[in-house]
Amino acid sequence: MPSIFTRILRGEAPASIVHRDTAVAAFLDIAPLSEGHCLVVPLQETAHLADLPPQTLDRLTAVAQKVGSALRAADPTITGLNWLLCDGKDAGQEVFHTHLHVIPRRAGDGLRLGGRPQKTSRADLDAWAERITRKFSECP
Ligand code: 5GP
Repeated sequence: MPSIFTRILRGEAPASIVHRDTAVAAFLDIAPLSEGHCLVVPLQETAHLADLPPQTLDRLTAVAQKVGSALRAADPTITGLNWLLCDGKDAGQEVFHTHLHVIPRRAGDGLRLGGRPQKTSRADLDAWAERITRKFSECP
């Protein structure tokens, strides 16, 4: 069965998309750890990091870097970023389609990366996607 991310990428499930190219896409996490939390996902579904072609990993990190810059440009309260990649069940991986989290951090947010996120409304996620997308094309 295809992963939820493959279903999103095929247009079979909703998502608030920030970017898509020939190798990777970025969209808002449905249950953000902080406002603006994005996932960068290869179009090719592979369960584990070791299965991902190195050139796709390069593209994944390049897009994650740009998503981070776009987040900072879109919201000046974002003063830090965490990248998180969970590879394997014991590392906390829940969706077995390799992906990189880009998690905005704000001064004094007290965020715990293992915390319990809450689902957010599609309208909020779409609003964030619009803000980030607008800045994405301006970032080097
Ligand atoms: P993992 O623990 O595998 O690194 O993280 C999976 C992430 O996927 C979680 O942060 C979860 O909120 C997110 N997620 C799960 N289902 C969906 C979905 O249908 N849409 C989106 N945008 N994110 C999802």
